[in-house]
Amino acid sequence: MKITIKPGREKSLLRRHPWVFASAIQPFDSPIASGSTVDLLAPNGSFLARASYSPTSQIRARVWTFTDESVDKEFFRKRIKTAIEVRRRLKVEGQSDSYRLIHSESDGLPGFVVDRYDEVLVLQSTTAGSEFWKETIADILVEETGIQNIYERSDVDVRELEGLKPIIGNLRGTLSSFLFPITEHNLKFNIDIQHGHKTGFYLDQRENRHRVGELAKDRDVLNCFCYTGGFSIHALANGAKSVLSVDSSADALALLEENIALNRVPADRHTTLEGDVFQLLRKFRDENRSFDMIILDPPKFAPTAAHAEKASRAYKDINLLAFKLLRHGGILATFSCSGGVDASLFQKIVASAALDAGTEATIIEHLSQGGDHPVSLHFPEGAYLKGLVCVKG
Ligand code: SAH
Repeated sequence: MKITIKPGREKSLLRRHPWVFASAIQPFDSPIASGSTVDLLAPNGSFLARASYSPTSQIRARVWTFTDESVDKEFFRKRIKTAIEVRRRLKVEGQSDSYRLIHSESDGLPGFVVDRYDEVLVLQSTTAGSEFWKETIADILVEETGIQNIYERSDVDVRELEGLKPIIGNLRGTLSSFLFPITEHNLKFNIDIQHGHKTGFYLDQRENRHRVGELAKDRDVLNCFCYTGGFSIHALANGAKSVLSVDSSADALALLEENIALNRVPADRHTTLEGDVFQLLRKFRDENRSFDMIILDPPKFAPTAAHAEKASRAYKDINLLAFKLLRHGGILATFSCSGGVDASLFQKIVASAALDAGTEATIIEHLSQGGDHPVSLHFPEGAYLKGLVCVKG
């Protein structure tokens, strides 16, 4: 099938951006099957790209290739082999047995996320195109990695926009235990691939957990939005004086307790608190509590730019309170995983939080997602995680 792009709307494709919106496509008669491969043509009829078609999504087509090549099993094998090679060069396996193997658009495979947790792959398919090729991709993954177990966690809301229902379960293999430990920088974490957030763990924070952990020695640490204790365990393992971990999810906190036992870090230096970070930070302020290090790693407040304003207020609120609770010389490690808030806006929000808290602060490190979550230069949306490590002056 061939689809012609409206005059002027081919510009983003010429810049190799992989998305084509419904409004950019010239009307056509015969229906196109969900997920099938289409040729995208410029208004003058010349070939632009080969893409998957999503009949119900506003992102109507996602590019597989800008080259006039067949999109078939061997095409996908090439892409997957390249993705595997990139991780090999990063030497990520020397640091962890778990990492992202396929990062969607940035690995040339829109709609596919594949995370490796030791000897299990967890696959998430989010688009009509990825659904169309899912079985083929699963076969290639088994062939190229030698890993027999692929678990599917295609239960994200965006599938609805593609007309797809949630799917969870074994895609390959016969895995019967979905809770098992992985190793990250010599620390162990129990991962729940069936019920955990994302595919089970926030792999994108691996390097930042390590780095922030190193800075935690001899400090009283408050870890906000702690999930299963990634930053907390790293801090305890690096000699933090005390760690207070806060999250609203009882399930995540139960796993955190298991993770403390698993690593034999000093449990007597750790406290868990279930609750809402926004409220607890206020309570701590009213009680005149203070800390030497505060970690803020909230969920995505702004999935898209449309949510940026409301999200900015939420980021400012928690960062302002954190600056107030920090002792002089204290460290704030603050993150945003919102695609709708870019690095420069995030830095401005943190600056205005420091200003309103009446404090000086300097940035000592800029952090981002690990290299196993690469960013295609043509798809800046792929760069979503940013972090600042600030010292209160
Ligand atoms: N830092 C973690 C990942 C944090 S993900 C890691 O390295 O693994 C964000 C966490 O925020 C989730 O665990 C979620 O349960 C929690 N959360 C979301 N809203 C919250 C709120 N208002 N108060 C407390 N926790 C919240």
